[in-house]
Amino acid sequence: MITLGIDIGSTTSKCVLLEDGNRIAATALVSAGIGTGGAEEAYRRVLTAAGVDEGAVARKMATGYGRKRWPAADGELSELTAHALGCHYLLPGVRTVIDIGGQDAKVISLDGQGRMSGFVMNDKCAAGTGRFLEVMAGILKVEVGELAAMAARARAPAPVSSTCTVFAESEVISQLANGAAREDVVAGICRSVAARVGALARRAGVREPVCMSGGVAANDGVRRALEEVLGVPVTTFPQAQLAGALGAALWAWQTAEHKEMT
Ligand code: ADP
Repeated sequence: MITLGIDIGSTTSKCVLLEDGNRIAATALVSAGIGTGGAEEAYRRVLTAAGVDEGAVARKMATGYGRKRWPAADGELSELTAHALGCHYLLPGVRTVIDIGGQDAKVISLDGQGRMSGFVMNDKCAAGTGRFLEVMAGILKVEVGELAAMAARARAPAPVSSTCTVFAESEVISQLANGAAREDVVAGICRSVAARVGALARRAGVREPVCMSGGVAANDGVRRALEEVLGVPVTTFPQAQLAGALGAALWAWQTAEHKEMT
């Protein structure tokens, strides 16, 4: 049975096609989120990538900020449940998921079986989110995808405020004006995100194993800084940004199986 999960986020639309609840058949990621044609584009691309007709998909579940705006879905689930399910698939037994997306950050506690047992989130402030990194990359005139490699070359990370994007922006500009190395400033920016999200994680309670999901997980500078802040290993996966869509595809499969049994 083929099921589909779609995660319509604030900045990016993600799709996963799953075969029999255990094999990822295809994925698609389109850098356009809610209020754009990103969801349709991701849906079309994932079907093409797998060489599958729309009619062959048994069940489609939507998650993410824009989940209520995709009429083709058979149902929806919260991003928290979706990331919990997706990360448990990628790292069985995971107890803490740190999901940093384009506009928010969430720390999800799991029971070890893939079920969410609690969460803490920041959706009020850009500090500690992908948006913060995008603003800082804009000041440095680099792509967000370049930040991790720059941070890895840092010698003495520069202090950057973790409390406010606007303050941090002026700090970064003045550090650069005072001759700080760009790499050191970038490492400071990664640490700033980690400090903010680390505080969130401590409020949720950190239990190992810990993993990161969401687009910012691709930034190894932030992942390593989080390990330092939390004092525990933080795992991530190449599919981290797809974890919500994967969770939705798993949920589609689980609920379809249940439907067949009743
Ligand atoms: P959303 O669901 O809110 O759209 P995602 O989990 O899809 O969020 O993540 C999108 C965020 O990830 C964006 O802010 C984007 O800048 C960031 N991102 C994507 N790739 C990278 C990367 N290589 N390094 C750092 N940030 C990244």
